[in-house]
Amino acid sequence: MKKVAMIILAAGASRRFGKPKQLLDWGGVPLVAHAADVALEAGLGPVIVILGCEAEAVRAALGGRAVQVAMNWRWKEGLGTSVQTGLSALPPETDAVILIQCDQPLLTANLLRALAARFEEGGASIVHPTHAGRRGTPTLFVRDLFAELAAVGGDAGGRVVVARHPEAIAVVEVADPDALADIDTPADYERLLERVPGFRLQDAKPETSNVEPANILSRIHHLIVDMDGVLWRGDQPMPDLEAFFAFLRRRGVGFVLATNNSSRTPEQYVEKLARFGAEVPVGAILTSAQVAAAYLADQAPPGTRVYAVGREGVRRALEERGFVLAEHEADVVVVGWDTDLVWDDLATAALLIHKGARFIGTNPDANYPTERGPVPGNGAQLAALEVTTGVAPVVTGKPEPQMYEQAMRRMGARPESTAVIGDRLDTDLAGGVRLGLTTVLVLSGIATEADVAAASTRPDVVCADIGELVRVWERSVV
Ligand SMILES: [Mg+2]
Repeated sequence: MKKVAMIILAAGASRRFGKPKQLLDWGGVPLVAHAADVALEAGLGPVIVILGCEAEAVRAALGGRAVQVAMNWRWKEGLGTSVQTGLSALPPETDAVILIQCDQPLLTANLLRALAARFEEGGASIVHPTHAGRRGTPTLFVRDLFAELAAVGGDAGGRVVVARHPEAIAVVEVADPDALADIDTPADYERLLERVPGFRLQDAKPETSNVEPANILSRIHHLIVDMDGVLWRGDQPMPDLEAFFAFLRRRGVGFVLATNNSSRTPEQYVEKLARFGAEVPVGAILTSAQVAAAYLADQAPPGTRVYAVGREGVRRALEERGFVLAEHEADVVVVGWDTDLVWDDLATAALLIHKGARFIGTNPDANYPTERGPVPGNGAQLAALEVTTGVAPVVTGKPEPQMYEQAMRRMGARPESTAVIGDRLDTDLAGGVRLGLTTVLVLSGIATEADVAAASTRPDVVCADIGELVRVWERSVV
């Protein structure tokens, strides 16, 4: 059995995250500790963690893990110095080393073992993973190449050595496109966070009765904001819409605009907001159609045939996840609000569900408020299908937790500093209460003062509209 050591490179200073990348949270542990856990789980040889920038904090983040640490005092000169530090800390009997970056959070112990197993087979001095023919890291190097590796300066790392020895390379192909992904930007981090196994919302908010609304709001750093009845009514923007977004930007409050309305695409919401004078990036919009598609993507492979009831928002969200829209022999029925709905659509959906297709509803809203009054919403469509088939749908929109969890992952938000703003007690706020988030009710949509008085749980903050919310919040101390 060959001896394979692992070196985790955790000395760098990344400037884009507000703190060293190696300390970013990954499902409750710092990234560097997560990398150490994966390497230890692989159970190969010793694990050596190279420290540099904020060495003491990174060392502390490793807790009592059974790793060796080595300090690279020259970390500012680049990755090469960390590789040198690691190589000189290796035990003399080491046959090969795997160089691991700590910012590849979906790296698995299985892949590390596969690299070592391929090396054990013989005939290769370098083993690296590939996905769809593209080279990835981490890379295993045989002992004979250590001197050459140690001589590489700057930030080039092992790739210079890899390029010099094409004949000596063996590869291990990986199927998961994210398995080799690294966190280069905050956007990468947000995207990969959605894959944290068992992402948990464990910490409840502090007690708020008898606390001034301004004080409750002072600890909020992230918002999940409903749109209909909060930012606008029908085609009328709320009077303080621009001031609301200006305030959030000024205070550095992150937000996701989350709607149960699945009929439109995120781009259509961006356009609508732009018409109202608010510039919002498309990544800040989360629709119940996207949440349903993400939920389905956890259950069924891309290419699965899905019958979609719903408008463009539903169809696009499903296609973006690689599902095939089909009427015949569909394995899944996804139902979103559809103002063009005809009896035939319901008949097709019912027959598929009757034959065993999985039944998913984007949102449970019984009705939809219009200028004329409440009209049938998606909940009414789901009820028609449930009555017909006797099968209850899985619903993913508010108040179900999936939507809030996805919004929080996008923002990297924690429950104790996140508030949900909505105009409905039964969906927006009920889901927030279940997850221990701070709840803000605006009276500019569905719920009235009388509803608040009759409700079993009082919202933490009640405001006439977003304009009053901003005025209350501005009184709070930063
Ligand atoms: Mg609403």
